[in-house]
Amino acid sequence: MSIYVVLGLLLVLSFILKSPKFKGFIGEKSVSYQLNKLDKEKYLVLHDITIPSIKGKTTQIDHVVVSENGVFVIETKNYTGWILGDEKADYWTQVIYKRKERLYNPLRQNYGHIQALKALLGGMEEVPFISIVCFSARADLKVNVVSEVIYTKYLVSTINKYRGIALGKNDVQKIYDAIQKASLKDGNVKREHVKALKNDMIENTIKIAQNKCPKCDGKLMERTGKYGRFKGCGNYPKCRFVLKNV
Ligand SMILES: [Zn+2]
Repeated sequence: MSIYVVLGLLLVLSFILKSPKFKGFIGEKSVSYQLNKLDKEKYLVLHDITIPSIKGKTTQIDHVVVSENGVFVIETKNYTGWILGDEKADYWTQVIYKRKERLYNPLRQNYGHIQALKALLGGMEEVPFISIVCFSARADLKVNVVSEVIYTKYLVSTINKYRGIALGKNDVQKIYDAIQKASLKDGNVKREHVKALKNDMIENTIKIAQNKCPKCDGKLMERTGKYGRFKGCGNYPKCRFVLKNV
């Protein structure tokens, strides 16, 4: 093999390793790896489930762990850099070097997942849900929260912290079965989920083309900021929608 072939292969490999898809895959794997350490008699684990959401669409949940100690709803994130945010804020901030990016508060996102699960388990009022947001070690967490926002390596110890018996063995099985039954891994729901997302994207694209804010229907205004020209919502600061690089 010539040196150029080797260099070419290395270049391709470095692209793959750097791609968000691959990083997401690794992140997911390590959470699954952690969850595998849980006592299988006591903890029933579901991965990547799609269930109806309360808004009539569907919602995707990374992991659910059902146990006598409660139902753990786990959202995984693979961000790098500093992660700053408050429990109740709409958005958190990711800081890499001097660049700032917004991310939807994962606790809010997970709250939506819990609402969907509650709706699904309608008859069972007393189910205690525990929201856990997991970040890989590549993130530097600087969040101000009371909920469980943790590094993946602490996932098992965090789950083990909850020792109070909140559910009977029968309920644990019942909840697990109900979620599994409602979760449509392969069938229509997943396709519908993708379609709903696509429809949202199309709708947003049309709005943006009409100079309308996709979040609040306000008028989009052209502005110039530190990082160049962008379009922002006319309802700022109430609505913080921005479109970069316009
Ligand atoms: Zn707006």
